[in-house]
Amino acid sequence: MKTSQALATKTIYRFGNGFAEGNGRMASLLGGKGAGLAEMTLHGIPVPAGFTISTDICRHYLEHGATPEGFPEEVDAALAWLEEQTGKRFGDPADPLLLSVRSGAPVSMPGMMDTILNIGLNDVTAEGLAKRSGSEFFAQDSYRRLMQMFGAVVLHVPKAAFDDILERARLLEGTERDCDLSVGALKAVVEGYAAAIEAATGRVFPQSPRQQLMDAIECVLASWNNDRAKFYRKLNNIGDELGTAVTVQAMVFGNLGQNSGTGVGFTRDPSTGERVMFAEFLIAAQGEDVVAGTRTPLSISDLRDRMPEVYAQLDEVTSYLEEHFKDVQDFEFTIEDGRLYLLQTRSAKRTALAAVKIAVDMANEGLISRGEALARIDPASIDEIVSPQLDHAAGDAIVLAQGISASAGAAVGRIALSAAQAVSMAKTGPVVLVTEETTAEDIHGMAAAEGLLTARGGATSHAAVVARGMGKCCITGARAITIDHARETLRIGAEDLKAGDWISLDGGAGIIYKGRLATRKPDAENASLQTLLEWAQSLSDCDVRANADTPEDAKSARKAGAIGIGLCRTEHMFFANDRLELVRKMILASTKEERVAALKSILPIQQRDFEAIFLTMAPLPVTIRLLDPPLHEFLPAADDVKAEHLAARRDQNAERCLILESLVKRIESLTETNPMMGHRGCRLSLTYPEILEMQIRAILQAAATVSRTHGTLQIPEIMVPLVASEQEIATIADLIHATAAQVDRELVEAGLPCLDGYRVGTMIELPRAALCARAIAKHVSFVSFGTNDLTQMTFGFSRDDCRSFLNTYLEQKILAHDPFASIDEEGVGQLIKMAIAGLRSENPAIKIGVCGEHAGDPKSIKFFKSLGVDYVSCSSSRIPAARLACAT
Ligand code: PEP
Ligand code: MG
Repeated sequence: MKTSQALATKTIYRFGNGFAEGNGRMASLLGGKGAGLAEMTLHGIPVPAGFTISTDICRHYLEHGATPEGFPEEVDAALAWLEEQTGKRFGDPADPLLLSVRSGAPVSMPGMMDTILNIGLNDVTAEGLAKRSGSEFFAQDSYRRLMQMFGAVVLHVPKAAFDDILERARLLEGTERDCDLSVGALKAVVEGYAAAIEAATGRVFPQSPRQQLMDAIECVLASWNNDRAKFYRKLNNIGDELGTAVTVQAMVFGNLGQNSGTGVGFTRDPSTGERVMFAEFLIAAQGEDVVAGTRTPLSISDLRDRMPEVYAQLDEVTSYLEEHFKDVQDFEFTIEDGRLYLLQTRSAKRTALAAVKIAVDMANEGLISRGEALARIDPASIDEIVSPQLDHAAGDAIVLAQGISASAGAAVGRIALSAAQAVSMAKTGPVVLVTEETTAEDIHGMAAAEGLLTARGGATSHAAVVARGMGKCCITGARAITIDHARETLRIGAEDLKAGDWISLDGGAGIIYKGRLATRKPDAENASLQTLLEWAQSLSDCDVRANADTPEDAKSARKAGAIGIGLCRTEHMFFANDRLELVRKMILASTKEERVAALKSILPIQQRDFEAIFLTMAPLPVTIRLLDPPLHEFLPAADDVKAEHLAARRDQNAERCLILESLVKRIESLTETNPMMGHRGCRLSLTYPEILEMQIRAILQAAATVSRTHGTLQIPEIMVPLVASEQEIATIADLIHATAAQVDRELVEAGLPCLDGYRVGTMIELPRAALCARAIAKHVSFVSFGTNDLTQMTFGFSRDDCRSFLNTYLEQKILAHDPFASIDEEGVGQLIKMAIAGLRSENPAIKIGVCGEHAGDPKSIKFFKSLGVDYVSCSSSRIPAARLACAT
């Protein structure tokens, strides 16, 4: 072992016989395994003695390519201590101490790094072990296991070389199980292994136990950077800098005979959370036999039948561990000639469903508090419970491409390449709508489809926002898709497909699979989850409202536990089939009178929608946003109209030609180079006050109607979008008050009760509004941050078109994360913070919310909570996760 400059700190921690230099809180230094072993030892649990080499050594090794000076001597000293503890000597020809060398990261990385067992065996000590144990089979079996593991892991001999030799021995003896081989066959295997190692490496298998130990330690240190460990860390966001600890421990033998065995288990069922011990074990085996799956393990009830006392002790010890660590434990045990040893304990990995049940049960059992139960659940994992998921069989399926996870869940259906095709195909079975991007006009196709897949766009693109609102799975920005609309074919990654072919989407991971995969149903009503969400509500000081645009959305919002609507985007009502024509009439009107007449026919329809929403939500509050998008979004695409015009000309339909010509003119006059920075938001209310007037009437008359007919009090919250200046909101607030006064007068004249009231608020979606928040606060009683637009306008990134460079930014780490998915705390976040200070200094009672897509992102919610917002508002499908995030 090469060494470099010494380390000043303690690097080896001993444990054994009730004494330990470390403890359970030292996982960052001793790894989860080392910390668990130390803690168990301190609590008198039977653990073979050993020592743990700290992660400092690994970090030093990775940096310098060598362990620090003096390290081998420290290992020798720890080994001498271990010999004392066990009463055996390492390398003793008559009764050798044998060792295991195991990796153990601070964060569990199961099976990703290396482990070597039975270190200390050689031709001589193997004979000694045979005599001492009285079993030559056991000694030779242990020796061949060491050669196999050491050969593969330390000497890099291909694993297949060993497998072939063992397989041949089994064939020769006519047995399927290694434990049924004869001693002679095992000796031949040992010789075969020795020859294979020499042939592959040009070196004999090291006979020096110390050399074996030092090589094994170095190999485990280096395994921190093997490919699978690096991949696993990347996948699970585990820091590369943590390093692994190495635990060197006296061996105990599960392969000593029929009174011995080894197993792994959980104190509760890790897939359902059921409170039953869930474990498997093998008789006459060592640890890797259970993991390797070469023999079928027995269930833990077999252990109860075969060795009732050992079972009772295991039950007692593991229950104690669970109670002590206050969490479900994943443990490894070995039984050596009827004596139980624990080799590992750690917090168990579990499914989201199990996590929720376990957290609630443990709080009910008094093991943890309700707050701790909430803190144990990763809010993002709740999607696994509340939305459908692809079944695990998806692991074998063909991945076509990956896009952005815009809305969780799963969708399986036949490909439709346009909204119209989706509507017609959906009549005969499930459909996935695949398009370059979606626009408001595609709403019917989106509603008909099971899931949405777009080649462009990101986490706040139209498809993403609408899909979340509808609770549908959606993947956006899948740039590996090209569509040939004329031929109704498409290419996804390397596969050519056509409309009607089956695909499957995993919205949570953003992965597109070929074919029709099975799905698992959601379990949104899950009793433990409902309990947890109630606890969340009672412990949270931040409310969760819903973004809901229609009466149906409002129903889903209530079902999901929203305590109000924080954003009703009224334009979405305009796209319904029976309205679009009227809305177009209103937009195409050439005089104010024509426009007012068209608005008159829209008014009762909007009013009915608002009545239904108010009734569904009462007595919870509802915030309605005035019309926001540029008007051209409601009109057909100019190219489509031009094509229609050509056809009309061919048919010599002069009247139709005239209509279409004026339509093209109007569309072109509304076309803007930068529509998102154009004639939209409050600018519409200022230029077409009659639209605002109609909407205010619809809102207030709806509130008056439900109050009168159902005795339901609703104080509507009217929200003005895209305000940049005090003058804008002041003018619009005056217009709202004037319309409200007029509605009130009309109610009185009709002998009806007057309005119960209303509130005026605004969105902060522009940097200027954030900077001038104090002045804006003079005119409103609430404010909601539209973080989609605020992110777009602060970065100057178009939320729909930025993918071409944003992906490069993310790959090159110019941006740490997608700012449309998780709030940019450093920039946009500072604007929000500054704005909140301005708002509160003008009006301490002002109500402040967030209603952009970030309001459904648990990480962003944490940030908003730190700024003291009163509520977040997100699509219904994200409400459960948001409720949890608000409580932790
Ligand atoms: C926003 O900009 O954050 C917002 C909620 O409005 P929209 O997404 O409708 O532009
Ligand atoms: Mg907006």
